[in-house]
Amino acid sequence: MASTLSRRTGRSLLLRVTSSTSSISTSSPSNSLPASSSAAPTPPHTHRRALSSSSSSFSPPPPPTDPTNNDSSSGSTTHFGFKQVPVDEKEKLVKGVFNSVASKYDVMNDLMSGGMHRLWKDDFVRMAGLPAVLRTNAGGAGIRLLDVAGGTGDIAFRLMKKALETYPPPHSTPPPSITICDINAEMLKVGQVRAKEQIFPNLPQVHSNLEWVEGNAEELPFPDNSFDLYTIAFGLRNVTRRERALREALRVLKKGGRFMCLEFSHVSLPLAKEAYDLYSFEVIPRLGQAVTGDAESYRYLVESIRQFPKQEDLAREVEQAGFQSVTYVNYTLGSVAVHSGFKWA
Ligand code: SAM
Repeated sequence: MASTLSRRTGRSLLLRVTSSTSSISTSSPSNSLPASSSAAPTPPHTHRRALSSSSSSFSPPPPPTDPTNNDSSSGSTTHFGFKQVPVDEKEKLVKGVFNSVASKYDVMNDLMSGGMHRLWKDDFVRMAGLPAVLRTNAGGAGIRLLDVAGGTGDIAFRLMKKALETYPPPHSTPPPSITICDINAEMLKVGQVRAKEQIFPNLPQVHSNLEWVEGNAEELPFPDNSFDLYTIAFGLRNVTRRERALREALRVLKKGGRFMCLEFSHVSLPLAKEAYDLYSFEVIPRLGQAVTGDAESYRYLVESIRQFPKQEDLAREVEQAGFQSVTYVNYTLGSVAVHSGFKWA
């Protein structure tokens, strides 16, 4: 097992552990990237060791289904947190969650994660290696980035900032085109206001390169082979039919394009798991109630994390969808993981 602390000062909580799926462990992804790919060299990979469990004084409510199930839906029902609901209803319920929390979404992220979500997102965007992609593609002309389940724009803004750091305005190279796609119009509206008023208030040229599109990850409203990078952060967990979303990701990526998913995942270290469960089930819904008046949406959040596949299982799903050179990286003891895969063919 190789674990590395983030090089940045004060970021020791961003403990990273990298892995690759076994079927591709002999070829290093960083050796086979085309110059036009949106990939950064991937750190050396190792396999995560299973750890034995210990007795615990706090036990979260047991999920009704096996979280390792590699399909997010089975038959006519699927899970919505720990509840079973008809497949056709989950989308509406998820929309309800994000309608309810949209205006307080960003402040709740800071409160719940103690600001950690910013470090995870920063590192996720750094891993995408955008500066190298722009430099090897004549400043990024024609480079298109897609952030699915993009919500209020956190990932897209970070990608845009990376591009602007690489070619600061008024450089003749225009920033790349970044499309933010989300099923929830409320979240997108909050994002658009943030872009104009808070994030890029003095950079009108940036706004024409940010495209906000209402759409479902399972049926993306974009042509085949359109994008160089597909990102999805804290979104895949909410999708009803994950396998469809992964196939759509493959379809819309150009050959050489990269899929990257940042998502809550599974802590396996026994004591850390116990503390994490206690915090998740006892603190987060109460915090949600205090800040948004909606404990239920935050109960859904913690339950949906437990229902999401473990790191290795998601890596397998990404491979089964047709991606190659699949790897994953754990952050913060596995509470969050980044999965990455490439469309080589
Ligand atoms: N990516 C943003 C971030 O990291 O801050 C937002 C993440 S938020 C937890 C999850 C987002 O997924 C919500 O904005 C929600 O509307 C969106 N979402 C849920 N299901 C979706 C689907 N099927 N297609 C597209 N977006 C979806």
